[in-house]
Amino acid sequence: MSATRPTEDPRARPSEPEIDTFSSVEADVLHEECGVLGIVSGDLPAAPMAHLGLYALQHRGQESAGIATSDGVHMWHHRGMGLVSQVFDADRISQLPGSLAVGHVRYSTMGSAQLANAQPIVIPSPWGMLALAHNGNLINAPQWRAALEAEGVEFTGTTDSEVIAQMIAHAPAPSVEEAIAHTMRRIEGAYTIVVLVGGRVLGFRDAHAIRPLAIGTTGHTWMIASESCAFDHLGGVPVREVDPGELVILDANGLQSIQVLSPLRVAHCVFEYIYFARPDTVLADRNVHVTRRRLGRILAREHPVQADVVIPVPDSGASAAMGYAEASGIPLEVGLIKNRYVGRTFIQPDPALRDFGVRVKLNPLRDVLEGRRVVLVDDSIVRGTTSGKIVRMLRSSGATEVHVRISSPPIRYSCYYGIDTSSRGQLVAATASVEEIRELIGADSLGYLSQSGLVEALQLAPDRLCMACLDGAYPTTVPVEALAGRHALETSRRRPEGALTGADDV
Ligand code: SF4
Repeated sequence: MSATRPTEDPRARPSEPEIDTFSSVEADVLHEECGVLGIVSGDLPAAPMAHLGLYALQHRGQESAGIATSDGVHMWHHRGMGLVSQVFDADRISQLPGSLAVGHVRYSTMGSAQLANAQPIVIPSPWGMLALAHNGNLINAPQWRAALEAEGVEFTGTTDSEVIAQMIAHAPAPSVEEAIAHTMRRIEGAYTIVVLVGGRVLGFRDAHAIRPLAIGTTGHTWMIASESCAFDHLGGVPVREVDPGELVILDANGLQSIQVLSPLRVAHCVFEYIYFARPDTVLADRNVHVTRRRLGRILAREHPVQADVVIPVPDSGASAAMGYAEASGIPLEVGLIKNRYVGRTFIQPDPALRDFGVRVKLNPLRDVLEGRRVVLVDDSIVRGTTSGKIVRMLRSSGATEVHVRISSPPIRYSCYYGIDTSSRGQLVAATASVEEIRELIGADSLGYLSQSGLVEALQLAPDRLCMACLDGAYPTTVPVEALAGRHALETSRRRPEGALTGADDV
């Protein structure tokens, strides 16, 4: 392990005023969970490739980023709070030698946004230092953490990912493959995980394959990542997805596979297609942008309306709006301009200005909207407050009618698989009818895509999809709701003081 100096991070300002993550705006969207990446690059340095790959996965998490590298004997590691561009620069990357790497970008779905919970998790193991990066959410992490603590294992953070890492390191198994298999048989929930240990990168996925994990190659470099768009950035091509319950091992000799768990009912998350994944990613052989365009076409068929322009909520509504415009014949227009330079950690200078949070992020184009009947296309409604603000913004910019069209069915149930909606109380559609939501957001009409329309657009059999947040049909057992939130592994003793506090080195 490297012993580089502790980082003086200019972003570490614990005494600053409260960081307002856009008040309602950020709380009113579904949050991506995390992105994971592994690289085996032969004789090339892996860190620059991991760095580029994490940029491609940045949309999956903006709270922290990290890379661990190895030359097969030693491990180096750096992680920090913030975007990839804030955590890494050329100097940092040059301090991470070796031709093996794992990387991670995080949005916290279990455990607070604090440095101790940033990934990759790096711990000692019987096979040398082990670095682990995880996307998903375990539903039985508290019980395994308690069991490990009873054996004297100490934890530095409060994530389910650290529980998995420690389970592997303490498994009664002679090899890391068997330790991972032992762990996979005991953990429940959604997980796609990449591990760097003993000169190899290993990737594995839960038996329902809820979250995505794909393998790619450039010919001499092997890669594994949450989304195939990362391979494009690295000049590679997708090879295949990791199968449900499969463990793959990447090393200088290429790829090996062990089917650890019998595949259960496959349950790919539909919101990866609707919202989370990047449009240039391919999931289950379906390009995400093309799929979203199909969502929009079917939405137009199910909820037609007389209007003058179709306006997407940028950026996630763009592909579906294109499909709606194509199918309806109503012209597509840009009516909302997104400020791309406002991060999630925007600091509100004055409580009186909080209502302007949406305006900081989205600005309406009066010249497009004035006197027009607008179809506003978005991917989802979580609480409804942001949709209401956007509808009011369009009207105040001259729109005569605003018809909201949503390219997903209503979200009525909590997600326990890595999306930050573990409390149904946050979800407006859990208790309100479509008409009540229309009234709440002040739209002239509101139409959601039907569940059958969603399945038609995805071109996958419904028994291969997770749609639990739409219909309550969970593919696994689910925990008591109170235990399932992001702080499930935090007691008052463990709960951290002061989030967002800089970077560390191991
Ligand atoms: Fe995706 Fe919804 Fe299933 Fe969660 S519950 S994995 S968001 S489809």
